Amino acid sequence: MSPPSLIDAHPHLSDTAPVALSYELFPPRSPAAAETLWTTIRELETTEPDYVSVTYGASGSNRDTALELINRLLVETTLRPLAHLTCVGNTPQELAAVIGELLDIGVRGILALRGDLPKDGGRPAAGSLRYAQDLIDLIRRVEQRRSALLCAGKIAVGVAAYPARHPESPSEEHDVEVLLAKQRSGADFAITQVFFEAAEYEDLLTRARRAGVTIPIIPGVMPFTSLRRLTRLGELAGVEPAPQLMERLAAADDDMERLHIGVDATVELANAALDAGAPGIHLYTFNEHQSALEVLDKLALPRHSRTRSAIPRPQLAS
Ligand code: FAD
Repeated sequence: MSPPSLIDAHPHLSDTAPVALSYELFPPRSPAAAETLWTTIRELETTEPDYVSVTYGASGSNRDTALELINRLLVETTLRPLAHLTCVGNTPQELAAVIGELLDIGVRGILALRGDLPKDGGRPAAGSLRYAQDLIDLIRRVEQRRSALLCAGKIAVGVAAYPARHPESPSEEHDVEVLLAKQRSGADFAITQVFFEAAEYEDLLTRARRAGVTIPIIPGVMPFTSLRRLTRLGELAGVEPAPQLMERLAAADDDMERLHIGVDATVELANAALDAGAPGIHLYTFNEHQSALEVLDKLALPRHSRTRSAIPRPQLAS
C-alpha cells in the first residue's frame, strides 16, 4: 500500500464544496424589456451568483442582442456570463466565428446546445451541425487554436441534460448515452431541463453515474409561480407540469398567494435535489428577480461570499 499523499492527509480538502448558484437570463426583445432586465440583473448581482447564463435563439436568431447583453454583463457588472450557443441551422464556419467573438470579449463558459428544430418540421440548412456533441468538438478545436491566449482560463463547456426523456429521444437510457458521449467530447458540466419531481433528477443522477458520467449535473429549477408559463413549458419542452401544483395555483385568490404557493413548491424541489447530491442550483428567472430572490431566501444555500472571503491585504509597517 502506498503512503497517503499530502492531499489525502490534508484535513480541509475533504470538506464538502460550497453549492453553486446561477441564474438564466434571456436577451431582451425591446427597450422596455431591457429596462426590466437590467433592474433584475442589479438585484440578482447582490446575491453574488457564480455565473449567469444567457440564452441564444435557435439558428442564432438573436445573435446580436445575446452578444450585446453578454458584453454589457462583462463590462458593467461583477457577473460572469455563461453563453448559451445553439448549433442547429448554422455551419461550422459561422459557429466558429461566434465562438471567436465570445472569446474575444472575455467569455470563458459556453453551454453547447443543439437548439430546437424548425417548428415547420423542415430540415436544418445543409452543412449545419447536427448535434450538441458536434458543437463541443468545434468549441474544443477553436480553443486549441487559441490555447496561447487562454493561459489564464480555458473554456468551461456545459451541456443540457434531461431528467424526463428528451421529446425526440427513444428512451431515458439513450439520453444518458448521449450525455456520456457529450462528456467524452469534452463537456465539463451539465444543466438540466426543468423537472417537477425530485425523483426524476435523482434517477438521472443514478443512471448517469452508473453509465460513467462523472461531470456535475446541475438541476435547472424554475420558480413555479406563473400558471401561464408552466402551461407553455409543457408545450415547448415536452415537460408536463404536476397537475396538483397547477390546480393549487389555479385556485389561488391573487398573485401574492400564487407567489407563495409557487415559491414553496420550488424550494421543496430544490432542497430535495440538494439532498440527492445536486452540486448547485440553476434558477430559470424569466428575467424577473422577485420569485428567484424569494426562492433563494428560503433555500439558505451553503455558499461562500466572494467579498467576505476576499483575502485581506497585508498591512504595511509604518
Ligand atoms: P442534443 O444533445 O444534440 O440532443 C438532441 C436530440 O438528438 C436528443 O433527442 C438526443 O437524444 C439526440 N442525439 C444527440 N446526439 C445523438 C447522437 N450522437 N446519435 C443519435 N442521437 C443523438 N434552446 C435554445 O434554442 N436556446 C437556448 O439558449 C437553450 N438553452 C437551454 C438550456 C438548458 C439548460 C436546456 C436543458 C435546454 C436548452 N435549450 C435551449 C433547449 C435545447 O436546445 C433543446 O432541448 C434541444 O431540443 C436539444 O438540445 P441538446 O443540446 O440537448 O441536443
